[in-house]
Amino acid sequence: MEIPLRILDAHTHLSGSESGESAELILLCLDTCGIDKAFIFAPLIDSRSDQLTVQHIEDVRAHNTYCASLCSTAPDRLIGFCVLNPAPGLASGSVARATDLMIEEVRRCYHELGLRGVKMVPAGWYPDDPEVLRLYRVIAELGMYTIFHVGIFLDGREGKYCRPAFYEGVHQVTGLRVQLAHVGWPWVDEALAVLAMETELHGQDPANWQLRADLSFGPPDDWQLTTWQKAIDSVPPGMLCYGSDVFWPKSPREYREQYLQPQFGLFEVAATNSHIIPEGDPKRAEVRQKIFYDNAWAHFQAAVHVPQRPVASERPIATPHANLGKH
Ligand SMILES: [Zn+2]
Repeated sequence: MEIPLRILDAHTHLSGSESGESAELILLCLDTCGIDKAFIFAPLIDSRSDQLTVQHIEDVRAHNTYCASLCSTAPDRLIGFCVLNPAPGLASGSVARATDLMIEEVRRCYHELGLRGVKMVPAGWYPDDPEVLRLYRVIAELGMYTIFHVGIFLDGREGKYCRPAFYEGVHQVTGLRVQLAHVGWPWVDEALAVLAMETELHGQDPANWQLRADLSFGPPDDWQLTTWQKAIDSVPPGMLCYGSDVFWPKSPREYREQYLQPQFGLFEVAATNSHIIPEGDPKRAEVRQKIFYDNAWAHFQAAVHVPQRPVASERPIATPHANLGKH
């Protein structure tokens, strides 16, 4: 009897209207590679956060509208995430005012666009800034799920804002459910220490944890297996999620060769080396299923009270300032 593996890719990026991506191409890739669902982030803006100005607020809105419209093609499979950024430059240097703008935007994303996910990349503001916590409270009240970039950017953006320990601020907002990306590379030890505190704070039931992590991208080649190994050895496997960090569009071959197959390999080797989930043991299949689907979906559902209803835009959305595939 064949036991099908369900797969959810918990970390993928749209590149914007100029890249030729479409819901149909993404779905073709998912179907060919056996992926059930993907978390789909609105395009990032192709400027450093410290270069954002008041004009970019229109880009933030357009990108979120674009994401909802694309995901409306298959709302059960393409799970849309707005990108929010309370960067002070968006509001003449004020984090407080920028937070107000993002509160307004997240309400629009929930009520008018039907989105239930939020992606944020702290830069120019810290994730535990008391002003920004106001935004998190609104996100939790609405019933939305949050993914944060954690760690250094490989293109030299401002990684200092994204150290794992700053995300302990999440604990100040009851009900917020957060996925920390990249296991915080290069601060993997710090990210795992923060994750390990979840059981101290919230107990052993995964339903109560506020933080989980995705294993996407991040570590350079020599650290990839070490990162998987430390993660599997150090925190409950219920805290870890598969993510590719792909920038759409990608051919099925590219997706499988560059992301899915290598991540499978890393999981299997790390699981064998762990000596706690041996080859052939039923627990291996159980843990694989959790990491490649169940963990991210359960965490998402713990935050989201009403399923997403992404809205199709009546006209094509231009995204001239989208980041086409860098970080
Ligand atoms: Zn990413």
